[in-house]
Amino acid sequence: MTYNVSAIGFVRSCFKEKFAIPRQPQLAPAARGVVELIAPFNQGDAVQGLEQVSHVWLLFVFHQALEDKPRLKVRPPRLGGNTSMGVFATRATHRPNGIGQSVVKLDKVEADRLHVSGIDLLDGTPILDIKPYVPYADIIAGASNSMASAAPVLIPVSWTDTALQQAQSHGLRLQEPLVELIEQCLAQDPRPAYQTPTAQREYGAQFWDLDVRWHYPEPGMIRVLEVIAAR
Ligand code: SAM
Repeated sequence: MTYNVSAIGFVRSCFKEKFAIPRQPQLAPAARGVVELIAPFNQGDAVQGLEQVSHVWLLFVFHQALEDKPRLKVRPPRLGGNTSMGVFATRATHRPNGIGQSVVKLDKVEADRLHVSGIDLLDGTPILDIKPYVPYADIIAGASNSMASAAPVLIPVSWTDTALQQAQSHGLRLQEPLVELIEQCLAQDPRPAYQTPTAQREYGAQFWDLDVRWHYPEPGMIRVLEVIAAR
């Protein structure tokens, strides 16, 4: 059977590419964005009452991971990228119907937009629905998942003096907690688990309108090298 769904809005996010986005929401509280609602949902009626809610579920489309042929098995990065699992045992982006779900903090409600943080969503992500987080139903005491039993181990992030100054001044310009955003995202170690980086190898990702470059001075340690206007 086929059902039609359509976007009720789109995310404007600090994340402009998939690389270095945390693998789940709440891992980077400084990751902020705006859900821009589209007609007929952008007049205020649809969000009335949401100001009483601290967090919302966003249901969305992994629009940059859609595939024609559904996968039954996936290799989650969380498991190192080598172990194959049933797609329904994972939160992989490649999945039937391409639907994702994230609980995010609701910072501010406006008639035509929601300001959210702790997001794991790419810029331009289509939103299918928004639902309030309901603590008494959504917190499940004693729930377990032995494949993903705890948040990823964080690695230390240091800065060159230049990169820190660049991040601080761009943070002021953007009015965003940029230093925290970069530290929180890089501490998750975005590098594919199968790569062992040399100190010479540089990595980069775009946050807001900035290119952030870093390297691994030694395994399990990141140093931010520069934060400059994205080309
Ligand atoms: N919390 C969601 C879930 O469980 O359905 C997403 C989990 S998924 C593992 C998170 C990853 O999806 C991010 O690290 C990012 O690389 C990727 N991602 C985010 N938005 C996307 C989009 N619109 N299209 C494709 N990939 C996306």
